[in-house]
Amino acid sequence: MAVGAGGIASVIRQELGCGLQGKVVCPGEGGYETARAVFNGMIDRRPLAVIQAVDASDVVRGITFTRRHNLPLSVRGGGHSVAGNAVGDGAVMLDLSGMKTVRVDPATRTVRAGPGLTLGELDRATQAFGLATPLGVVSMTGIAGLTLGGGLGWLNGRCGLACDNLISADLATADAQLLRASSRENEDLFWGIRGGGGNFGVVTSFEYQLHPVDRVLAGALSYPWRMASPVLRFYDDFVKAAPDELSTAASLGLTPAGEPTVSIAVCYCGPIDEGEQVLRPLRTFRSPVDDGIQPMPYTVVQSARDEGFPSGRLHYWKSGWLRDVTDGAIETLMQFVPQMPSSASGVGLQQMHGVSSRVAPSATAFPHRAEHYDFLIGSQWSEPTDSDRNVKWTRALFEAMEPHLEESVYVNNLGDEGPERVQAAYGANYPRLTAVKRTYDPDNLFRANQNIDPSTGISSGVG
Ligand SMILES: Cc1cc2nc3c(=O)[nH]c(=O)nc-3n(C[C@H](O)[C@H](O)[C@H](O)COP(=O)(O)OP(=O)(O)OC[C@H]3O[C@@H](n4cnc5c(N)ncnc54)[C@H](O)[C@@H]3O)c2cc1C
Repeated sequence: MAVGAGGIASVIRQELGCGLQGKVVCPGEGGYETARAVFNGMIDRRPLAVIQAVDASDVVRGITFTRRHNLPLSVRGGGHSVAGNAVGDGAVMLDLSGMKTVRVDPATRTVRAGPGLTLGELDRATQAFGLATPLGVVSMTGIAGLTLGGGLGWLNGRCGLACDNLISADLATADAQLLRASSRENEDLFWGIRGGGGNFGVVTSFEYQLHPVDRVLAGALSYPWRMASPVLRFYDDFVKAAPDELSTAASLGLTPAGEPTVSIAVCYCGPIDEGEQVLRPLRTFRSPVDDGIQPMPYTVVQSARDEGFPSGRLHYWKSGWLRDVTDGAIETLMQFVPQMPSSASGVGLQQMHGVSSRVAPSATAFPHRAEHYDFLIGSQWSEPTDSDRNVKWTRALFEAMEPHLEESVYVNNLGDEGPERVQAAYGANYPRLTAVKRTYDPDNLFRANQNIDPSTGISSGVG
């Protein structure tokens, strides 16, 4: 049966009817505008229908319906993909944001988490037991997309990436089967979902390893612009010798008054007195304008950046991995940052090191296992009339930085940047990922993502 926008609501309701636990929201109905909105205000797409799933059976029904009518499908976790992959024009959106079940088992130090949870919601549940799993650094981000692409945050040095702490996941596959992926069941699928994004199925439940995480020593040091070069040079040397317990990020941007500024944020997740020792050289090497480093609950550092990322602003990001903060890279940043068109934007160097960098590049689908920085030009602004100059500035800085970057990028930072950049994100693991894709989703039902095309490499013999 062919369906169009007009008839979709009645067709869905007729077919899914009383079997569906969640709601269906269609164009023109109450709640549709909210249901289709995602984090990035640049994305303005109108799905044919939104299925607000509440459990795995709703997900299976949604997949079956979509396939039967040969409709495009998108899957929404926290809706924070800057590319806006959670929503598609004329697509059926499987919205999992209501699936927020969470069950902590303190005895085994594990948690089962629903795909609609945000980082903040999962942290709150696990911290009640003095435990945590590594996630990202802005608490409204969804655990689902973050984990499936990697998941880099303040615990990466001590505990690895989010995907490294995945013990198992339940998935609804393209042929509407429910499978468990773990190191013992469907191992190839388990390998693929740890870095390969939502290419292989819809995850209906994640099981993570937890770690004891008490109060942390965290906060930021801010410096005047004239110190930016020596600060960045010192920062690079300092963090390369830092213990696994310390993870850091450098940021460059503008103050609300439009003055360029540089800051170093840290999180030490070991004993506080040891952290004080470790951080002393960084805190004393120059006089910062502000030193906000202090002991704090882990949930406080996990939400410290939230204010800078309200939903609905317009975003354009460019990114790549940076191995060393070289003089050339610093010079480029010194030239461009003062010209940043929006004081809401930021250029970040998020450190990846320790446990997350020591995993073998082929052990999971996430290939970027090295001590380096996730370099991100995160431009954001509020007025559509400012879009042109913000996008132009971001592209110009990225182009100027390219000679200093590795030829690869973190998949979770990608916008809509074309197949070459997608392949750069999956790196040397791309051929194996296409083989897994051909096994679990040969027709590419799950393609509203940084897509692994199942036909890639067949004619050329790759994979
Ligand atoms: C403000 C902000 C801060 C960030 N900070 C960090 C950070 O510190 N560290 C880091 O590593 N990343 C960070 N990111 C990047 C983040 O990891 C990605 O944006 C990620 O995609 C967000 O996941 P989501 O579920 O919110 O997104 P969504 O847009 O809902 O989904 C992203 C992709 O995953 C797919 N997907 C979602 N749920 C499922 C599921 N259950 N099953 C299968 N596929 C699914 C979607 O279809 C889509 O393709 C940040 C992003 C933002 C916007």
